This record gives sequence, structure tokens and C-alpha cells, in this order.
Amino acid sequence: MAKISQDTIRNVIESNDIVDIVSNYVQLKRAGKEYRGLCPFHSEKTPSFYVDGERQVYYCFGCHSGGNVISFIMNIESLNFIDAVKFLANKAGIAIKEDQVNDQRSILYEINREAARFYYENLKSKRGVIAYNYLKNRGIEDKTIVKFGLGYSQKAWDGLLNHLSKKGYKVQDIERAGLIIKGKDGASYYDRYRNRIMFPIIDSRNNIIGFGARSIDETMPKYLNSPETEIFNKSSVLYALNFAKKSRSNHFIIVEGYMDAISLHQAGIDYAVASLGTALTPKHVELMKRYKNSVIIAYDADAAGKMATDRGLDLLEKTHLDIKVLEIPSGKDPDEFIRSAGVQAFKEAENAAVPFVQYRLKKAQDGLNLDNPEEKAIFVNRASDVLADVTDEVRLNSYIKYVSELTGIEEPIIKAHIIKKVKSKNQQNKNIEYISGNNRHNINYENNDVDDKTRVPLIDETERKVLAVLTNSRELREKYIYSLEEDLFKYPFSQKLLVWLRDVTLRNENIDVAELMSKYEEDEEIEEVGKILSMQLPQEPENTLIEGLLTLKREKLKRAISELTVNINQSKDINIIKKLQQEVMEIKKELFNLSIKKSERRGQNG
Ligand SMILES: [Zn+2]
Repeated sequence: MAKISQDTIRNVIESNDIVDIVSNYVQLKRAGKEYRGLCPFHSEKTPSFYVDGERQVYYCFGCHSGGNVISFIMNIESLNFIDAVKFLANKAGIAIKEDQVNDQRSILYEINREAARFYYENLKSKRGVIAYNYLKNRGIEDKTIVKFGLGYSQKAWDGLLNHLSKKGYKVQDIERAGLIIKGKDGASYYDRYRNRIMFPIIDSRNNIIGFGARSIDETMPKYLNSPETEIFNKSSVLYALNFAKKSRSNHFIIVEGYMDAISLHQAGIDYAVASLGTALTPKHVELMKRYKNSVIIAYDADAAGKMATDRGLDLLEKTHLDIKVLEIPSGKDPDEFIRSAGVQAFKEAENAAVPFVQYRLKKAQDGLNLDNPEEKAIFVNRASDVLADVTDEVRLNSYIKYVSELTGIEEPIIKAHIIKKVKSKNQQNKNIEYISGNNRHNINYENNDVDDKTRVPLIDETERKVLAVLTNSRELREKYIYSLEEDLFKYPFSQKLLVWLRDVTLRNENIDVAELMSKYEEDEEIEEVGKILSMQLPQEPENTLIEGLLTLKREKLKRAISELTVNINQSKDINIIKKLQQEVMEIKKELFNLSIKKSERRGQNG
């Protein structure tokens, strides 16, 4: 990523008062030492969004978004870090000096943007007539074509390649963007997309990260997506999210295809996103949860049915996003449905959407005759699998009741079934967690169809709380920082922050936000930094810190035990096994002492 000097970042932060900047977007009222208003990041009627002029941070008690002036602009203007700094610099009249670092990724964004422009011009030109007519026949209006930047890749082997080369882009970069393919001779290149309608895929920061392409002749496959590139990862992208996140609706509707999403937007359903033909991934859910609390899945019957029986759905349940399913009647896709039945019918279907768990229970019944004892047992087994994912007790109990009434099997028996499933799932998850060790990109998930890094969070709640205290209280930082080892923290993000905090303490300095922000490269890391800075110290910060550190210590010991256990199981040398077992015993003793310490603390604090 291009670098902006620390001095510039500092200058930008100091020249843009957060109260002034936020006031451009949110009506703020004074509330004691702070300012309060309606949160721009979630819909609410009573204000829970606070701006603290003294600490120069904002925080929302409703959706827990928070950060400093730069993270605010990143979120509200959908900009990446560099562009947010430029935006604020521009406001304050500061000239930006970018280091002459070659920006590996922004060149790809630039090439994609130029390609999208080229495809769009093609669609409007004479050679795009067939494609244009195709869109017209599917009811797509001109203003929709403009809004989504639809285009056409001409029926030639080098149309785009020539265009981009003339613009001065290097063949290697165009290939890295996934737009051209190396020929069999190993020297020449040709366009990846030919004679197709082009759908630019735009991320939530308004970068064009890839393309979808639909053939308009008989060429297969019908739909072609960008390959995985440095900036495009299919399982972590939602098409049309850049528009849908701004909708006033309190939920999203998720469809499978580009045309579905576009049709819905054109019909005024401006909260539709598309998952590009993949199943719903935890990364999708995480993305949506940033903006809204619920989503309705509107896949066609086959796809919805398939996803209801997929594995790994416990991950969705854990995200606490409210998920419902709308089954489109009789083998239609949402695009066809809304065009034939109209918006009103679609909205009615939306209102009739059922909770995801309920839908999965219905699917678990498919093909089974519940009067037959054998098939009834199969159903209870499947239903227990579904319900093992439900973490909310009230909901769980009402579903158990439902299954009991349906089958005539007593509730305690069903409950026992579910507990067994939960235990075996926990065991699986533990294995995953403990293997993980330190490397965020190297985790062995059982189900490996998703890019690892899209699944693994940056940090967890305990580490965040501990680091927030260490970052925001100089006194406690100075008291504790030297006693903390890096490997106490599980996530590389946290380890890096710890090292930096130690360095700051050594230098006997205060936190320099500009320096800290420029330590990290990824936008999500920079946002996390902002969030940590924005967190208020808890009532009793030292207690929170010590409790958190004890939890981290315990987790670290457990990780050590499971690593040793793996070694014991793999070792054939009895002496080594004995030695490892001895180590395990010692760690267990340490864990035990830790639990005594913890309960003593509980006693002290009442
Ligand atoms: Zn909020």
C-alpha cells in the first residue's frame, strides 16, 4: 500500500476536530462533557452515538462502532485508509506527500476501473447492440445500466488488452488483475472475457475489485467471475453492498445472481445484495452485520434447500445476525418473480419469510414419514444437529417443544440428543482452536473451501478489552506492560500492538495515534486500532485488566496442553512420552492454581 508519512497523518488528525467533522453528517447535541446524536451506522430512534472532543473519538453504544476522525471518514464515506486521509487533508488544506512506494494493489483498482469504463463504452457503441438489447429485453432500464456500470466485452481476443496497453498499463499488472490470460505459447496474452455482459463488482469502499460476466451466446459457462486475485476473494464479497448498505431498510435481502440484485434495486428494493453464486459464508455475514442486524435469504428453492443442510452453519448462528429464509415459489429466481408478480407480491413473500432454524427443521423432515419409528429417529437426529447450533436458550427451548410435539417424543430425550451433538461439535471446534497457535493465516479448518483468512477474526473480545486498558491508561500500562509476554496473546494483531505499547513505555511517551495507525497496513486493522482507541476505560480498569490477563493466561496454558497432547499421541518413544506427560501435569497444576487465584479475586470483589 502506498504510504503516507506519519507527520502528515498527525497533521491531518490535529487539523480536523472530530466534533466538527462528525457534525457534517450527524446532528450533535451537547451531553455533559460529550456530544450525542443518532448513530449514522445503524438505524435508531434514541441517540446512543457519542463524540468525545477531549479524546477525539466517537463511540456508539448501540452497534459498538467506534474510532477516531480517520476511521469515522473511512466508514461514513466508504473510503480506504489512504483515501480517508486524503479526504481530510483536502478539507484542512494540507498537501499530501505520498512516498514513492510502488502501490501493488491500487494499480489493480486503477486497471479495473479503466476496464469497466472501456466495457461501458462498448455497451453504448454499435458493437454492443446485441448486449444492450439483451438487457432491454430483461427489463433493465438505462439509468440502471449507468448506476451499476454495466458493460460489454467485445467479441475479440485482444480488445481490452490493446486498450489497456495503449493506456500504458503493464501486461503483468493486467494479468494480475485477472483480465487477461497467458496463451499456450507462454508469451502472448488474450482477453479473459469475450462477448459477455460485464458486471463490475464494487466493494464497500467503492473500489472495483473484479467482474462478473454473462455470456450472451451459447458459450459456457453462462456466468464467469474474476479469478481469485490480490484484491478479489469471491467468498468475501457481496455484490451491490455498496448501494444496499446505504438503504434505510433495517435488513438486507440476499440473492444469488447479479441480475436478481439489479432487478430488485430497479424495483425499489434497494437493500438487495448478491452472494455471487456461492453459499452464504461467515465472511458475508460479518460484512452484513456491520450495517444491519438481519437478513432475508432469497435463493431459489434448490439453492436454499442445499444451504439449509450444509455444514458449518453453527458459524452463522454464532454471529447473532437474525437470518430468515424466503422461498421463491415454483422454481423461479427473484428476478423472474419480481418481474412477473410485481413488487407487492415480493414484499408479501418477504413478510412471510421464516426464521432460518425453522426452515432447516422443515428441510430435515423432507422425505421422512414421521409415523414410521425408524424415520422418526432419523428426523430427531437431524433436528438435533440443527438445534445444536442454537445458542439462545429461550429460542432453543421453544424449538425443542416444537420437535417434541411433532414427534411425540418427550422433551428431555430430545434435549439429551442435542447435548450430545453440542459436545461433539465443541470438541471439533476446540481441536481447531488449539491447533491454531500463533499464525492467523495458518489455521487448519476441517472444512477448507473458504480462504482461511476470511474466517479468522483479527482479535477477540478478551484481547480487545485488555489492550484497550493498556492503550488508554498510561498509569496501568506502565505498571503492567513489562510483565506481559507476546505469546500471551493469540492474535498477531494483538502481539504487534503489545510490542508497540512496550516500546512507547520504554520511550516514556504518550500514545501517538498517527504513529500507531501507520504501524498497520490493512484497513480492517486500522479500523480495529481506531476502535480500541475509542473504548472508554471500564469502571474499575485495573480489575478488568487483571481478569482479562488471567483469562488469557488460562487460554495460553490450554493451548500448550493440547499441543503437548498432539505430540504425545504422535510420539513412539516412551521416554519422550513420559517427559511430555510430566509437562502436561505441571501445566495442569498451574491451571489449577490459576483457578484458585481467580475465585479468590471473586471473593475479594464480592
Ligand atoms: Zn451505532
